[in-house]
Amino acid sequence: TQIGIIVETGEAREVHHHCLLAGYGADAINPYLAFEALWQANKEKLLGEMYSSEDALVAGYKKGIAKGMLKVMAKMGISTLQSYKGAQIFEAVGLAGEIIDKCFCGTASRVQGVNFDVLIDESHRRHTIGYPAKEGDVISVLNNPGDFHWRSGGDLHMWNPDTIFNLQIAARNNNVEAYSEFARYANEEATRRCAFRGLLKFRTDVNESIPLDKVEPASEIVKRFATGAMSFGSISQEIHESLAIAMNRLGGKSNTGEGGEDSARFNPLPNGDSKRSAIKQVASGRFGVTAWYLTNADELQIKIAQGAKPGEGGELPGRKVDEQIARIRHSTPGVGLISPPPHHDIYSIEDIAQLIHDLKNANREARISVKLVSEIGVGTIAAGVTKAKTDHLVIAGHDGGTGASPLTSIKHAGLPWELGIAETHQTLVMNNLRSRVALQTDGQLKTGRDIAIAALLGAEEFGFSTAPLITQGCIMMRKCHLNTCPVGVATQDPELRKKFKGKPEHLVNYMFMVAEELRGIMARIGVSTVNEMIGRVDLLDTDHAIDHWKAKGLDLSAILEPAQVVFEGTEFYCVRQQDHGLDKALDNELIRLAAPALEKGEKVFIEHEIINTNRVVGTMLSNEVCKKWKAEMLPEDTINIKFNGSAGQSFGAWLAKGITMTVEGDANDYVGKGLSGGKIVIYPPKESTFQAEENIIAGNVILYGATSGEAYIRGIAAERFAVRNSGASAVIEGIGDHGCEYMTGGCVVVLGKTGRNFGAGMSGGTAYVWDPDGSFPCRCNMESFELEPVSSAVDILELKQLIKNHAEYTNSPVARKVLEDWENSLSQFVKVMPTDYKRVLAERATASAA
Ligand code: SF4
Repeated sequence: TQIGIIVETGEAREVHHHCLLAGYGADAINPYLAFEALWQANKEKLLGEMYSSEDALVAGYKKGIAKGMLKVMAKMGISTLQSYKGAQIFEAVGLAGEIIDKCFCGTASRVQGVNFDVLIDESHRRHTIGYPAKEGDVISVLNNPGDFHWRSGGDLHMWNPDTIFNLQIAARNNNVEAYSEFARYANEEATRRCAFRGLLKFRTDVNESIPLDKVEPASEIVKRFATGAMSFGSISQEIHESLAIAMNRLGGKSNTGEGGEDSARFNPLPNGDSKRSAIKQVASGRFGVTAWYLTNADELQIKIAQGAKPGEGGELPGRKVDEQIARIRHSTPGVGLISPPPHHDIYSIEDIAQLIHDLKNANREARISVKLVSEIGVGTIAAGVTKAKTDHLVIAGHDGGTGASPLTSIKHAGLPWELGIAETHQTLVMNNLRSRVALQTDGQLKTGRDIAIAALLGAEEFGFSTAPLITQGCIMMRKCHLNTCPVGVATQDPELRKKFKGKPEHLVNYMFMVAEELRGIMARIGVSTVNEMIGRVDLLDTDHAIDHWKAKGLDLSAILEPAQVVFEGTEFYCVRQQDHGLDKALDNELIRLAAPALEKGEKVFIEHEIINTNRVVGTMLSNEVCKKWKAEMLPEDTINIKFNGSAGQSFGAWLAKGITMTVEGDANDYVGKGLSGGKIVIYPPKESTFQAEENIIAGNVILYGATSGEAYIRGIAAERFAVRNSGASAVIEGIGDHGCEYMTGGCVVVLGKTGRNFGAGMSGGTAYVWDPDGSFPCRCNMESFELEPVSSAVDILELKQLIKNHAEYTNSPVARKVLEDWENSLSQFVKVMPTDYKRVLAERATASAA
């Protein structure tokens, strides 16, 4: 770079504006009008608190913008401003080619849109508000346009008091008139002015209309409906269960979200209802993802991203983490939880294939789903994920999201599902992959018309989130993250939860009304089943009757492009199952050999060779243990398996309690992922001559998301050891970088060196590191924990017992050396204690003493 670019502009106000300017190359920005507006507001005492000086105000504004920009960069996976600057990681929605070519060269703008004339007109209109032609038109205060919250007379929002009122009346009373009023407004007003699908119309001149009774029944259509992934924690127990009961009554699916699920819900209720969510989500935090949880699913959904906030993990503030939520998530009450943005076992398409395979082993009856978001190129990603053997794909649009989503994400991240689903369907059909995968979309689906358009663009299943919440009482206060939801929907406050008035039948009523509206459209356009509609873009047309001065330049041909058929016999919806290759799994044999344990609980010992193509060993067996012995699983060491050789990826993933697996040899990545009470022991071949404590014996990301169980590894593991561990105990003789990252529970003992960035984001559990040369502190990320000597009797007992176990199971000379010189060794151990965890433990101790 030879020259700096400084932008002086009155337009830049919000985080997004600054991101855009930096993203297109600005080195510095002077948002002078934002400063002046703040100074004026300060003078007029409108800021709530008085700022002592103009400089203090500017400093505060700059700090806020910088924080927001950092968040956006983090979402994009970019760690330095230097890399973000000029990177142009944007897609334009609604800008004509003439603007793109001149100002945003190379940026995708798939639907075209406004040109310079419209921008000039828009600027004039805004200018006129401040400087009207007639002096009498001067206004004393500008209108609040209601950018984020609905305001009377402000910008149009898809949900407003009328739509919310009508939907709630419709759902509570099964009132078809109120639903019609709701759907009329949603379809003809809100959607027309807010969404691409509002600019489309159905073609009734392609097919003959058919009688309504020739259209498949609503009871079949509702089976294609799912509710969105809203975790127990973000919403209350009452609504989470109400949604599940409703969707089970319909034969559709509810989704746990990323917070796990109370296993008490897996048992049907006496009246035949069930609170069990059919879809169990597996997100980056892996909260509550145990073998038992996975066994109790009809669908396992890998959340790669959320439509409303792509690139961000979920966040649950500490005030919402009560005893019950902490128990289900295997965390500590009162300590906030952050899901890491990435899955630590996914860095490539091969890794996605591995996780899909892992989950399929954990539950062979469940469909594996991958949730992606609408963005340019999602079709190519979807094709890759389909080849990676997913059974189901979700393409999430940007419109959804609760009030807990950050404002910059609500406004500026993600894209409409119409673009994503059309691109995905077109790409999958062109590559003859569409027949292998079911396609779902979501993002503010509300009416039968929305569903019809989604199907015609390529979806066969449909997700709803906001509307189901509204049927249960949500009034769109957008205070979901504050724990103060006044209607008991998004709160864990026991008093506010009492205000919850929703009932499963309200959602059932609504879903049937949506399906009936869809049936009416199907009859009009002459299709009798949803399957016949999928990808039929010829039944859609642009609605030229929509006359809006900003809509004229839009070109929806990218959405309405019929999918190209390249291969003979290409199908347009999911008609076949993926071959997951489960018949080749070593576990088939292990299940046979472990039959006495599985059937009668008798102890068995198995010895077997293992090679690195034996992947996910022990997981299918664990699934069998869960199916037969439920949450209790089996007593420790009931199934004892000794392997000789090299274990492949995901050895012992979600290994169930009662199974002990020992490898004499070595292991690949993801050992003990999601460990669920099982025990894993790894040591080098007895005849090997190298020093185990100086050599890598196991790969990356070991014990990721482990919830309970034990692991003893004689030798060094690679990076991210025990990332997101929430309950397992482990002893190891050295680890790579990022050890114990985001850990929320459990105990890790390291009898050797660690890599750098140890304990980043660690908020619970403990680690003991043997540090004879005192160099450990400089390799720690100390933001969330303190280092202490090991001094309490409880700690000493725990540490010594784990090292004794390690010596016994692995015959480790390092462990023996430490034990032989225990007094001296103990003084060389450092305890890693997360500060939040320590605070909560101290508060609990004080409370129980009082
Ligand atoms: S009423 Fe408000 S706070 Fe409660 S769930 Fe709805 S949007 Fe969130």
